[in-house]
Amino acid sequence: MTGVTADDIAAARERIAGLVRRTPCDLSPSLQGVAGAPVWLKHEHHQTTGSFKLRGASNAVASLGDAERAGGVVGASTGNHGRALAHAARRAGLRCVICMSALVPRNKVDAIAAEGAEIVIVGRSQDDAQEEVDRLVAEEGMTMIPPFDHQAVIAGQGTLGLEMLDDVPDLETAVIPLSGGGLIAGIAAALKSARPEVRVVGISMTRGAAMHASLAAGEPTLVEELPTLADSLGGGIGLGNRHTFAMVRNLVDEVVLLSEAEIAEGVRHCYWQERQVLEGGAAVGPAALLAGRLTLRGPSLLLLSGCNIDMALHHRLISGENVDLMREAE
Ligand SMILES: *Cc1c(COP(=O)(O)O)cnc(C)c1O
Repeated sequence: MTGVTADDIAAARERIAGLVRRTPCDLSPSLQGVAGAPVWLKHEHHQTTGSFKLRGASNAVASLGDAERAGGVVGASTGNHGRALAHAARRAGLRCVICMSALVPRNKVDAIAAEGAEIVIVGRSQDDAQEEVDRLVAEEGMTMIPPFDHQAVIAGQGTLGLEMLDDVPDLETAVIPLSGGGLIAGIAAALKSARPEVRVVGISMTRGAAMHASLAAGEPTLVEELPTLADSLGGGIGLGNRHTFAMVRNLVDEVVLLSEAEIAEGVRHCYWQERQVLEGGAAVGPAALLAGRLTLRGPSLLLLSGCNIDMALHHRLISGENVDLMREAE
């Protein structure tokens, strides 16, 4: 069985209550002026660990059986999922190992170590790190928790949809950052089972939009991973994708792609107008609206998904610098 039901999401909400923050939802007067409709911002970047990934990780960890708990959990994510998994495992008193390559920057390693995970540095690529994860699963009885293509993870992210409807019962459009699709799949399942008329729009960056390319091809497709301001939206959806591809195809109404300059403008707007620090991948909703790529009718909500940006980069962006990470990576 693929997919996640409204019952799975309701159960997740009970399971993770007390483990995650219920984040606030506020009207944005400035974006309302742009849209000509009420625009709500859900401030999920104020979630513990700095992103919504704690919801899915907490639900997945809390759903484990006794034997799995005894073995501990393992993952290969160096970003928001790695932080969240480490935090959720520590709260539950479980061993957590995060595997990463020697190329991962020091600040990312430190952030995950600070959440209490054991760090294993192996090889020089994400594939090398994944091999070590597979070995720990096979030889040490650990359980891998992936960042998006996992039913308990999707159901955990879906709890955001329930909170959105509690705060904005007449919601007509939800605008959600999109990468592997766990976030938007869970939210769309929650929203559409309660209010089938809600329109769900996903936003990715033009540079390496794996789900968008996969939808166009009709099957999971590889895309080249490129440096982008929306780094938390990078990476593929997995050629053997089991859940999120089908859910996104069935439940998401539209996918919008943004340039680097448009994403930068979103980060700037969130800082100067909303007084919020957002990472690039989290500012894509406001960015899409400001770029004129979204038509909003009726009460609309933009999800702000995370705040884990390098603060030196953030400073450059809000100071108006024209940052091109592709050029800087050369
Ligand atoms: C992971 C992540 C996303 C995308 O979530 P998916 O489930 O992979 O689509 C969006 N924003 C932030 C901040 C993230 O960490």
